[in-house]
Parts: sequence; C-alpha cells; structure tokens
Amino acid sequence: MARVAFIGLGNMGGGMAANLAKGGHDVRAFDLSADALERAREKGCSAVASAAEAVADADAVVTMLPAGKHVRDVYDASVFGKAPTDAILIDCSTIDVTTAREESAKARAQGYEMVDAPVSGGIAAADAGTLTFMVGGSEDGFAKARPYLELMGKAVIHAGGPGAGQAAKICNNMLLGASMIATCETFVLAEKLGLDLQTFFNISSQASGQNWSMTSYCPVPGVGPETPADRNYEGGFATALMLKDLRLAMEAAESVDAYTPMGSHAEELYTRFLELGGDGKDFSAIIRMIAEKAD
Ligand code: NAD
Repeated sequence: MARVAFIGLGNMGGGMAANLAKGGHDVRAFDLSADALERAREKGCSAVASAAEAVADADAVVTMLPAGKHVRDVYDASVFGKAPTDAILIDCSTIDVTTAREESAKARAQGYEMVDAPVSGGIAAADAGTLTFMVGGSEDGFAKARPYLELMGKAVIHAGGPGAGQAAKICNNMLLGASMIATCETFVLAEKLGLDLQTFFNISSQASGQNWSMTSYCPVPGVGPETPADRNYEGGFATALMLKDLRLAMEAAESVDAYTPMGSHAEELYTRFLELGGDGKDFSAIIRMIAEKAD
C-alpha cells in the first residue's frame, strides 16, 4: 500500500481518487470544496486540510485541476519542497503544453520525476476506472506512474517526453472537434437532399467517410449506436470542455507556428454554439446550430 496525495476531487478527480483507494492505497485527499472532500471521504479517502498536508510523506502525488494556472499554483506553493523528492508527481489535468513543460522542468530541477497524464473519457469512465491516459515524461517517470494510472484507467500510453501527454490530448481533441462538425453538416445536408439518415449512416459508416464521430458518437438521434443525441444531448462530453481543448490546441498551434484552419474554424463554431446556449449540452448538440443555419 502506498501513500497517495490526491488534489482536485471534482467531477473527474472524485471517481479517480476513489479507484486508487479501492486499489488498496492510502489516499490523502484535498480540495478547496468541502463537499467534494466529504464525498471523497465517503469513498474511502482520508480528507486532509491542505495540499501541503496531503503531499507530506507521499509516494505519489496526483492532481486533477481545472486549468494550467491551478496546476502551477498548487505545485509551486504546496508540492515542490513539500513532497519527498522520491514521490512521483502525476498531473492528470488538461492544461496548456507550455505550463506542463515549465512545471516539469521545475520538478526536475528540484530532483522530482513528474509526468503529465491527461485523460480521454468522461465522468463515467473516471468512476468506472476505464480512462485512457496519455503520458508525457521520462521512461523512469512513466514506469513509476504506470501502476497508479492502471488503477484508474483501461489504457496507459507513453506519448513521449515532458508535455507530450498534453500535446497528444489536444491534437486528438482538435481532430474530434473538427470531425464532429464535419459529421454534423454532412447529416444535415444528407437530410436536405432527401436521404434517409439511417440508410446514409449504413452507407457512410462502411465507406470512406467513416469516422468515430459518426460510427461511435452519431450526433443524430435514433441513428447508429446509443449516444448523447438519444438523451437530448445530456451527459457525454460538455461543449464547454470541447471549447477549452480547442482553445488550448489553437494556443499550442500559435506557439509553434502551425497552420490549423479546420481547428481554428471548429473553435469559432463552438464559441458561437456556447454563446447560443450550448453550455451544459454534449458537444454533438452543435448539429442543432448547424441545422438552424445560425451564422
Ligand atoms: P471540476 O471543476 O469538476 O473539478 C476540479 C476540482 O479542482 C474542483 O473540485 C475544485 O474545487 C478543485 N480545485 C481547484 N483549485 C484547487 C486548489 N488550488 N486546490 C485544491 N483543489 C482545487 O473539473 P473536472 O470536470 O473534474 O475536470 C478536471 C480536469 O480534467 C480538467 O482539466 C478537465 O479539462 C479535464 N477533463 C475533464 C473531463 C470531463 O468530462 N469532466 C474529461 C476529460 C478531461
């Protein structure tokens, strides 16, 4: 049994910390929210009063925080110099590549191994322990982080050096955002051209237009497998989180002077969808905006 500090017990972190406790670890949990802390305690974690208290004597430190600035604040104030230097530091939050690389460099300079390990999969996968982790860091860091990540996920993949996990995550989600919009506009056009949508699905899912947004996450209710579209676009992957990832992708593209016209247009369309009230809906609900020609 290892001592694991877990900081950030929100929608995702709550289930992930519970799975580490279920896996037999002594999980010392901290969150600014008293409610989140209480829920973690009910799921087998020990609630502690500060991040610094959580990391003292830890074998591993796991963070699941909203954005780069939260990660920087927590690591700079409460992890570096407070956790033992042989603790493996694992940041599972989705943050910008630059902050991930900067925090990793600070960690190395102080003798720590740190990995960025953002996830694919939502709240249900966090609760079920079936997340996919994309890990950036050294071979040693990856090897030390892996047993903890395996208790929270079904797949743990080493993406490369520091920041590579975040880079893989935002590249994947940029492709997802753009391919979802392309899938939505295709179904809208197919309908206007008089095609039966299930018939079109049967054709395209076996033809060259086939893609995950169509075959596994079809934005049209009643077509393909069951998806958020069949539940009035409730649950799934929130539009606001898709937009967050597209913004991170655009920021990263600018930092390396990459030309990403489809990603950039996807960001514009998701920004518009959020302004029109898409918040709280699954990201595939953008098909409604496209069907209504809201431009
Ligand atoms: P959330 O807002 O539900 O949880 C974040 C938690 O961090 C909150 O409970 C908040 O109180 C806590 N927190 C913030 N600052 C803190 C601090 N200084 N000290 C301690 N606790 C602090 O967010 P979430 O949905 O759990 O997402 C977490 C991360 O996972 C984000 O980076 C998000 O982009 C990513 N992600 C989310 C999903 C999803 O479906 N929700 C999917 C994949 C990745």
